[in-house]
Amino acid sequence: MNRKSTIYAEMNWQDFQDYVKQTPFALLPVGALEQHGPHLPFSTDVIIAEYMAKQIAERSGFILLPALAYTPSFSLRKFPGTIRVSDETFAEQLCEIARSLATHHIQFIYVVIAHIGAKQACQMAERKLLLEEHTAKLVNLALPGLDEAMQKYCTSKRWHPAFAHADEYETSAMLAIRADLVSMEKAVSEYPQKNPLMGPISVAWDEFCDSGVIGDATVATAEKGKAMLDLMIEKGLQIIAYHQATLKDEAGV
Ligand SMILES: [Zn+2]
Repeated sequence: MNRKSTIYAEMNWQDFQDYVKQTPFALLPVGALEQHGPHLPFSTDVIIAEYMAKQIAERSGFILLPALAYTPSFSLRKFPGTIRVSDETFAEQLCEIARSLATHHIQFIYVVIAHIGAKQACQMAERKLLLEEHTAKLVNLALPGLDEAMQKYCTSKRWHPAFAHADEYETSAMLAIRADLVSMEKAVSEYPQKNPLMGPISVAWDEFCDSGVIGDATVATAEKGKAMLDLMIEKGLQIIAYHQATLKDEAGV
């Protein structure tokens, strides 16, 4: 079996059936279809999630599932073109994917999340499945190491410690992966006034942000993007290695 065959969409059922006997683990990239400023495409988070999951798949040998693009995007829902599904619908879809894959002997699905807005729904699904028997379990990898990566490689100030959107990080990551989709001449820097009600109320971002960028996208480079992605991929692999070791302990291997 060659490496290419760990890409689910390119496998046939016989390859899958054989492969899963040795490797009952899958990677599921989760992105979004939402505005990313005037300079990045809607699919920015899908592209980042797919890239990270593919790198992890190549190093782990886990089965790489197709990305989920239609996900919760509550805060940005009013920007033209953003597609939002509810947390409940998305969480249920994750659960059904896990239950279905469990019937084909997948035991764990590592969810590679590049969209912060999907984190909560992924956790809802993870918790729900944790209480069920005979299903695959989720291990959520939500931009592992992002804070460290931004501290280390970003030169601009982060607008808010909990958010990173169409900023130096995401623009740099896109320059590293798909520079052809980035319009740097349209990149802007925007630091909206902080609203103390953001958090207590889920304020829609178009109410305080004009461009859709929060932070400084103008200082992004492909080099920074590559360095940040590499760091996050390493962090993801470390979490996976730790999790895999606990499985071996449980099995008494
Ligand atoms: Zn994004």
